[in-house]
Order: sequence, then C-alpha cells, then structure tokens
Amino acid sequence: MNITEKLIKSHLVSGEMIPGKEIAIKIDQTLTQDSTGTMAYLQFEAIGIPRVKTEKSVAYIDHNTLQTGFENADDHKYIQTVAKKHGIYFSKPGNGICHQVHLERFGKPGKTLLGSDSHTPTGGGIGMLAIGAGGLDVAVAMGGGAYYLAMPRVCRVVLTGKLSPWVTAKDVILEVLRRLSVKGGVGKVMEYAGEGVKTLSVPQRATITNMGAELGATTSVFPSDEVTKAFLKAQGREEDWVELKADDDAIYDEEITIALDEIEPLVACPHSPDNIKKVSEIKDLAVDQVAIGSCTNSSYTDMMTVAALLKGKTVDPNVSLVIAPGSKQVMNMLAANGALADIISAGARILECGCGPCIGMGQAPATNAVSLRTINRNFEGRSGTKSAQVYIVSPETAVASALTGKLTDPHTLGEAPVIPMPEEFMVNDNLIIPPAPEGECVKVVRGPNIQPFPKNTKVPKEIKGGALIKVDDNITTDHIMPSNAKLLPFRSNVPYLADYCLTPCDPEFPARAKKAGGGFIIAGQNYGQGSSREHAALAPLQLGVKAVIAKSFARIHMANLINNGILPLVFVNEWDYDNIKVGDEFVIKYAADQIKGAAQGQIVNVTCVKTGEEIPTRLNISERQRDILLAGGLLNYTKESN
Ligand code: SF4
Repeated sequence: MNITEKLIKSHLVSGEMIPGKEIAIKIDQTLTQDSTGTMAYLQFEAIGIPRVKTEKSVAYIDHNTLQTGFENADDHKYIQTVAKKHGIYFSKPGNGICHQVHLERFGKPGKTLLGSDSHTPTGGGIGMLAIGAGGLDVAVAMGGGAYYLAMPRVCRVVLTGKLSPWVTAKDVILEVLRRLSVKGGVGKVMEYAGEGVKTLSVPQRATITNMGAELGATTSVFPSDEVTKAFLKAQGREEDWVELKADDDAIYDEEITIALDEIEPLVACPHSPDNIKKVSEIKDLAVDQVAIGSCTNSSYTDMMTVAALLKGKTVDPNVSLVIAPGSKQVMNMLAANGALADIISAGARILECGCGPCIGMGQAPATNAVSLRTINRNFEGRSGTKSAQVYIVSPETAVASALTGKLTDPHTLGEAPVIPMPEEFMVNDNLIIPPAPEGECVKVVRGPNIQPFPKNTKVPKEIKGGALIKVDDNITTDHIMPSNAKLLPFRSNVPYLADYCLTPCDPEFPARAKKAGGGFIIAGQNYGQGSSREHAALAPLQLGVKAVIAKSFARIHMANLINNGILPLVFVNEWDYDNIKVGDEFVIKYAADQIKGAAQGQIVNVTCVKTGEEIPTRLNISERQRDILLAGGLLNYTKESN
C-alpha cells in the first residue's frame, strides 16, 4: 500500500477503498479557526454531546483578530468558554496561525485531522491525513461521527535531487501548480516520495502540503521519517513520532517527477496561484507592498532567513514591508536570538502572529498597488483591495524585492544564508488553555453577536412555496452569502447575515423571502461555485428556502445544501428554467417518498400550483444523503444516529 491507503485503511469505518466510492473514516484530531469555528461550535452544541470524542480538538483564533467592534471579541469569548466546557484546547489570539501552531504542538504522524479550514492539509507535512471540511462536518467529527468523502486517487510526486541555493519549498509547490493547474488535484491525494524527500525539513514539507489546497487536492502527504522525528524531538514531543512509509511495491494511480535541482525561483501572477512565471522572466515590476507570513511561509526557518537577509540593510523607500510570524513560538525565538531586532532595524512593520493580510484583515494594499506576498492565494480582491495586483513568492524573493523596490530574483543577493533547524524549539504553551477536566459547571458566554443558527425539520408531507428569485449561471457562494471585512465579524450571527443573502443578484430577495415565509430558488448552471462557505446554505435556510432548482450545482455547495436539509433539485429539461417566473407557486407532493425514490434514480416531480403541470427534476444523492435530507439535515441525522 501507499501511505494514503495505509492512513485510510487504519481509519476506515465504512465503504470500499475504490477511487470515487464513498468511504467514511474515523477522525483523531480536529481544528477550527475563529471565522468558521463559532458556527462549528454552535452546531456541536446543538448535537448535544457534553465532551468531544476525538483524541484532540483545538480551537484557534487567528483569522480576524482586529477588534474594531465588539463582534470579534464576542466570538473569541464564546469560543474560549465553549471549548473549556466541551473538552477542547483553546489557542488564544496572538498564539499564531492554526496550521503553524498545530504542526508545532499537536500534529502526529499516522493520525487523521479534520479542520474547518481549507489549508488543514498543512498537517500532511508531518505525515497526517489532514483534510479541510465544513464546520458542520467538523462538529460531527468532534461528536464522534465519521467523516465521509470520496475515496481519492493517489498521485505519487517523486522528488529527485536537492534544491539549489535560493530555491525553496514554495517554488516546488508553484512548479507543481504550473504543471497541474488549480484543478489538477481534484479527487486526489498528492503523496510525496523519492530521494528528494529527505532533503526537505518538516516546515518545508508543510509549505508544500499547505498549497496542495490550491491544486484542489483532497490533501497532500509526506512520509514520516527521521526528519519528522528530529522535528518532533526539537518540539519536545519525540514520543509522538511513528514511522510512515509506502511499501516498496505500492501502487499509485498517477505519478509525476519533480527534479528539485532544476527548479528556479517562481512567482504566481495575478489572479490565480497557477499563473506561474519564473521570477527572472519578469523585468522591472515595481513593488509597493511586501507581506511575509501566512500558514504557507511563517515558520522559524522562514523568518530566520528573512532576518538574515534584512540584517544591516534598509527596505526600499517605496515599499511597505509587513511581517507576521506564524506563531508565538516563532516570534519568541526571533526576539530571544536578536533576529527580530534585525527585522525591525531594516524597517519592517511587525504584525501580531495571525492570518492578517492573507485574509484581508488589515494591510490592504493601495489602489492599483503591486503586492508581493508569501501567502497561498492571490484571488482578485482577497487582499482587501480589488484593484491590487497580488503576486505569490517565496520569502527569499519577497525580501530581495523589498530591498530593491522591484520584483527581484534572490540570486542577486549573493550567497544564500544557511539556516539550520534548531535542535530545540522554545516551547511555552502558556497561550494554549486546556479544557476544564469536568465541563458541567463552565458557563458558556454568549454576547449579542452570538445568535442561534437556523435548524431544519424533518421533511414534511408536502413541500410548498413560491419561486423567490431566479438567477443566472455560475452564481458563486460570494453572491449567495457575501463575505467581506464588514460582514466577516457576523459569522456567528446568521439572522444578521441573511439580510445580505443573494443581494448582489437581487437586493430585494431577503425581504421577499421573509414576507413569503420561504420558498424556492431557481438557478442556472453551476450554482454555488467558489468556496466551501457553509453560510451560503445557512443564510437561505434562515430565510426559509426549502429547495434550489438549478440546471446544475457546484459539488461542495450541493453537499452543504444537503447537510442543511435543503433539496438541491436538478432540472431534467433545462427549458423548464425559462418558463418559471418569480412568484410562481410550487408543491412537491409526497416529498419523503419522492426523496426515497430519488436515491434509486427516480424523478422528483415539482408541481406548478396554478397549471398543475409537473416539472421533472433529479436529486443526485447517495443513500446516506437521502437519510440526511429526510431527517432535515446532518445535525438532526447525527442526533438520531447517536
Ligand atoms: Fe487561511 Fe491565510 Fe490564515 Fe492560512 S494564513 S489559514 S490561508 S487566512
């Protein structure tokens, strides 16, 4: 077996390990961050289990640490107290980015990790099967439920040779993205192998698995070897190490080879992580801002390299250099060994340990600015400035460019510094609050920003409602539930967010839906494309949406609708879309029976109340999803299962 198969087999709860087939795996560890965590914990509370059943669950505060109003502070306090009550470790604001801290303090080779963040695969750098998922899936996993996914195909990525000076792990994953594109990993696990693996440290491996998310991969994984053991030992956790390697005769579905010594410094140009060029190819690109940090590139060795390159120099007068070390451990070590002083002396602006600029929370670039970032995503507008041009680079290229004021190949800096991995990291977990041994007496604090989220009920005999809105093709989760710096603090307040649901398409929609007491959404092709944002299902549920009838759905959004008990119906005849007008009334008769039949491939008929005409639709669901819909969503289904 390969490593992926070993990890899945040792956690398999149900299903056959045949690519594409649904399997269920046991989850050992979970992580959440504040932006998705509030909802995940509200959902966990609703399941009604007093203590988490995982080996380790950790709640991080890293995404939105700006406290420009009471909302984020409310969320942080809620997460801290709910974590204490239910057996979850709480990483305080300032302790660092979830993936960096988890790698340092909690990740264990051979274990499964489910995180409510798409970059959870960072844990693959230490030999975990680490997968990003929606908050509800994580809540269910905390309650002891299995995680369901399609058995992935496994792509072996053979690394040969060794990186040249000035070429980094970031350039390796940019090279993989150049070859495979942002869709190249869909349905796959990228499993790294070959002689080159042992030349990469755990933080370097984690940079590569982190950005496997940009390939669309289920996850990425490295073996657990002597390098992994040395990292864990330096973190004071040698006992957490186990060896993990593929069998000599392991079989893979695909294979690619990357010659490490042939890679050059690369850059992902606006506005996609797979829009790759060589740094040396781009001439005279003036740079306005350089941001170093994020869960991709904020390890101790990354930051020490940055400090070594900045030492005794000054940042170009036209560049704003902002640096966010990935964790308190990293920041503390930089402070203790003097490297922080070198960074500050050079003119860098030091931010607290967190996501910050990566998610657009502060440090938005100027209008039309060129911003070089060591992050993983450069989608248009993510920086907080729609007109900004964001380029993704390694820390080495970032510093070289900050010093010259234009995109610069780090080779021009002369001899590359060699930063050894420390034999001992500075371990001080005083910003990680353990849960109360007995949680019964802990009072969960809910400020006014913590509002109950909508819950669905069992499928009624008939589902009735009007067409509340009719939208075009390719509606994104950003259209359905906009997420911007103004709305992000309301992630725990679905009733508030619902007033913005689908407003980019039709500002009157929330009011109309409320007045009608709910109904149906009519949509074109690829409805719900974009992120895994659960709120794009929760906000419609809050407004009483019972079904979406579309020409087709984006996969993750369709799963989110099912998880919330909203029927994702697909037109059998696309011309029926043309004939529907906003205000038309519909009924789905014998709803439960029709849903049961749909799991066997039968048609679901939606009847027009006025004409009696039947519109045939399909529900492309598994038997488990049928049961989830019948129960009124995953939460009810889980409660019933328990
Ligand atoms: Fe997400 Fe950026 Fe934070 Fe990483 S640093 S978890 S990519 S917001």
